[in-house]
Amino acid sequence: MTDKGTDHFIHNPLRRKYMDRLLAVQDGRCFWCERNFKQHDLYPQIDHRRPRRRGGSNRYENLRALCKTCNSQKQSRTEAEHIMWMSRNTEKFYRVVFGD
Ligand SMILES: [Zn+2]
Repeated sequence: MTDKGTDHFIHNPLRRKYMDRLLAVQDGRCFWCERNFKQHDLYPQIDHRRPRRRGGSNRYENLRALCKTCNSQKQSRTEAEHIMWMSRNTEKFYRVVFGD
């Protein structure tokens, strides 16, 4: 494999295994901001609904496809915690994700 465009697949077996399926289920959109990855030229990342370091699994059921911005905002929260966080920080979320 010498194609640079596929380098990340080599180092991310989880992504290689599940990303197509996640994108199909999520209609090609980020789970949180719902921007379309292709339309907005975003690179989808794998998020663990329950973070690995907090006991979350690598199983498909624990995964989402997120844009980089949403993934970095979610940090190590579980999905339930992130919903709570967003309910208190809606303006911040929109400002960071969509700009002013
Ligand atoms: Zn997003």
